[in-house]
Amino acid sequence: MVNNSDKSENIENSRDVSRDFLESILETVREPLLVLDTKLNFIDGNSKLFDVFHVTNKEAFISEFEVEEGIFKDLRTILENALPLQKPVEDSVFSVIHPVYGFKSFKLNTRKLKGSDYILVSISLHEDGDDHLDFDEIFSQAPAMICILRGPEHVFERANENYFQIVGHRDILGKTVKEALPEIEGQGFYEMLDEVYNTGKAFIGNEIPVKIDAGGKELKNAFLDFVYQPILERSGKVNGIFVHAVDITEKVEVKRKLEESENELRYLIDTVPAIIWITGPDGQNQYLNKNWYIFTGQTVESSKDFGWLDAIHPDDRPKVEQNFMNTNSERKDFHDSFRLKNKQGEYRWVLDSGSPKYNSEGQYEGMIGTVVDVNEEKVKEQLLKDKEHRIRSIIEEANVATALYTGKKMKIEMANAAMINLWGKDRSVIGTILHEALPELEGQPFHDLLQEVYTTGKTYWGKEDPVDLVIDNKLRTGYFNFTYKALRDEKGEVYGILNMAIDVSEMVRSKEMLRDSESKFRQMADLMPEKVSNVDANGKVIYFNQGWLDYTGLSKLEFEQKGINNFIHPSEKDGFEKTWRYSLQTGNDFEMEVRYLNKKGKYKWHLNRAEAIFDDNGKIQIWICTATEIQKIKEEEKRKEDFLKLVSHELKTPVTSIKGYVQLLLSLLKKKDDMPLSSIPFEKSLERIDQQVVRLTRLISEMLDLSRIEKNKLVLQKETFSINDLVAETIQDINYTNTEYNIKITEEFHCDILADRDRIGQVLINLVTNAIKYSPVNQDIEVVVSKSGKNKVAVSVKDSGIGIDKQNLKKIFKRFYRIDFKNEDTYSGFGIGLYLANEIMKRHNGKIAVESTKGEGSIFTFTLDVALED
Ligand code: ADP
Repeated sequence: MVNNSDKSENIENSRDVSRDFLESILETVREPLLVLDTKLNFIDGNSKLFDVFHVTNKEAFISEFEVEEGIFKDLRTILENALPLQKPVEDSVFSVIHPVYGFKSFKLNTRKLKGSDYILVSISLHEDGDDHLDFDEIFSQAPAMICILRGPEHVFERANENYFQIVGHRDILGKTVKEALPEIEGQGFYEMLDEVYNTGKAFIGNEIPVKIDAGGKELKNAFLDFVYQPILERSGKVNGIFVHAVDITEKVEVKRKLEESENELRYLIDTVPAIIWITGPDGQNQYLNKNWYIFTGQTVESSKDFGWLDAIHPDDRPKVEQNFMNTNSERKDFHDSFRLKNKQGEYRWVLDSGSPKYNSEGQYEGMIGTVVDVNEEKVKEQLLKDKEHRIRSIIEEANVATALYTGKKMKIEMANAAMINLWGKDRSVIGTILHEALPELEGQPFHDLLQEVYTTGKTYWGKEDPVDLVIDNKLRTGYFNFTYKALRDEKGEVYGILNMAIDVSEMVRSKEMLRDSESKFRQMADLMPEKVSNVDANGKVIYFNQGWLDYTGLSKLEFEQKGINNFIHPSEKDGFEKTWRYSLQTGNDFEMEVRYLNKKGKYKWHLNRAEAIFDDNGKIQIWICTATEIQKIKEEEKRKEDFLKLVSHELKTPVTSIKGYVQLLLSLLKKKDDMPLSSIPFEKSLERIDQQVVRLTRLISEMLDLSRIEKNKLVLQKETFSINDLVAETIQDINYTNTEYNIKITEEFHCDILADRDRIGQVLINLVTNAIKYSPVNQDIEVVVSKSGKNKVAVSVKDSGIGIDKQNLKKIFKRFYRIDFKNEDTYSGFGIGLYLANEIMKRHNGKIAVESTKGEGSIFTFTLDVALED
């Protein structure tokens, strides 16, 4: 329409005088005439021409004439073929298929107008040369609604079948429009008709809605395309209106539906959470959905044409623009990723993809695509890239053996020198599959572990795990602390495993050695009769040896539960705990004697010692504690104490006694003038004094002997003498002082011995005096000299005294050991006689033994080697 009006304007401008003349000729000729230039452009035509072809005016004719496929197709073809039309075309027949009036044939003649570039084309109806068309025939066939209205009141003159149909077959002919169609009042039609009638200008209505009574119950809502064409008299005055209308209701509805669905689509496109764009064939922006404007803050104006490119980061824009234009001209799929500025001025990474689109005729219409914000992903990807780069450099530079495996097959992606060295391989293993690079791992648990880490994503920590590796062609076992750590991609999926390993073989071996030595130490500690324990810095017992278990008779668990302290004698417990606490606090050595309860329920004295072991910082690491049984020492100490008490008592008694007698004698002697000397009990007193002196002498000599023996200074004066003589002499001596006792000597054997005569005599005296001392009732004592085995002589002293109970039998040969009696005085002694006897025998390679029954008497026997004959 616009184009056509432009053209007609041009035509108007080109008018000149000759054209005025031409026009008047045209209008006077009664047959249709057409003037064209030599390029077949329309110059002019007469009204007959428009009548014949049922076009309303010049514009309508031009638009029809200039379209290649229009109704004048045949006419144009003839003219084009005859170009440059120097020669006239004569009586060429062509036909026109008019959309309304149907098929008609025409004859064509042309003449070039002299002195101009115009061609005059005359057209006449072919069949009969009659220009009058049968309107009724045409009307009835026409698919349009047609009627002719006459006069200013628009009286229906003619109407075709279609017209009658739309007005519900009302009787309209001869009636004015107002009379015939009262329902259209107020819809603007009357006014339009008046306008056309009054102005003589045609009216073209497009998609005009009309409510009309088509004979149904309700008014029909229809849409019409129609033309009100004024019918002119020859004078040019309007005397009627030709109405030509097409019911396009269906088309309009379809269009409306289409619009609706288009709107829906548009709404959909706008609500899609993505940016959608459509570009034209030249790449210019045709459409951008709401999201684009929301995202970029651009306006429709600023994004117009190529304005959308302005939102791209300046660094990315040239590349994107180039890519887009290339892709557009090649009509390929478009993909690009770039930074797009958002409303806040921040650049976000986006992914832009588009596809070419074609219309139903296969013509390229441009592209349609989407823009998706992938900033997070991109940033993550970048981070991942950075991370991987970092990992790579860390791996390369790490002192720790490190390798990276990728994929389920464990491809060695990276391995640093330390790792390659550890494997005993070279750099050629990089890029190969782990199990191919290290076939010796077959049958070891590592492949399974790696697969597990790969599937579960859980890190595996190997601690001192043995690994067999072929190094220098030898299978060697090493120990490693290592990790298998899953590496994840940006989606969080495992794509590889990072392996770091530290060779701890040395440590493991030295630990093993330590364990060995520790177990040796434990064995040793367990074998020790001593009780050993380890206590930590807080005083908690962390180790105790077998000694404790043997002593307490408990199992390990029982002992652990009960605790060492519970075995301490109640009277020492508090003191022990206090002292021990002090040591724990200060780190000072601990030493204390306490009694521990043994498995038989008896307390035994122990010397407890504890010493702290400090670490490099001076902190207590551990306490090493020992408890040594000192029961015997304790007892001996007690005996020694008792002995000393006894000695002082024993020394005092004879001295007091001697002093008493001496004072008595002296006082009597002072009175000698008053009383006869004979009445003074000299003999008795002196005897008593002598006895006490003997006792003192014995005491002192025993003490001396004891100290000699203890200092190992007992010197033996060995000589060969007759044991029988020694026995006889000794008993004789004893008999002097112990007249009331009956000592019998039985000599079954006679021999000499090589020995210290005085010492053997001393032993015999001791045995006999004991026999006397411990036989308060029965005074029969027998001394027997007999042969004992080969080359030995035995001397036994047998009494029928108080005897010794079994438990004391062995102990009596010990220092200071005396059997406790209720009446101390009855059996006074120092408890060293038998000890000395035993020591003397030992030094003579002899033996002393006792047989005794409590209450029946005892037999003490010493045995010595018989002296060898010369
Ligand atoms: P003591 O000077 O006390 O007699 P010994 O060493 O000679 O010292 O004897 C040790 C202990 O052996 C005595 O205290 C006594 O209990 C016991 N004993 C020694 N000989 C006899 C004996 N013949 N009969 C009974 N007990 C004896």
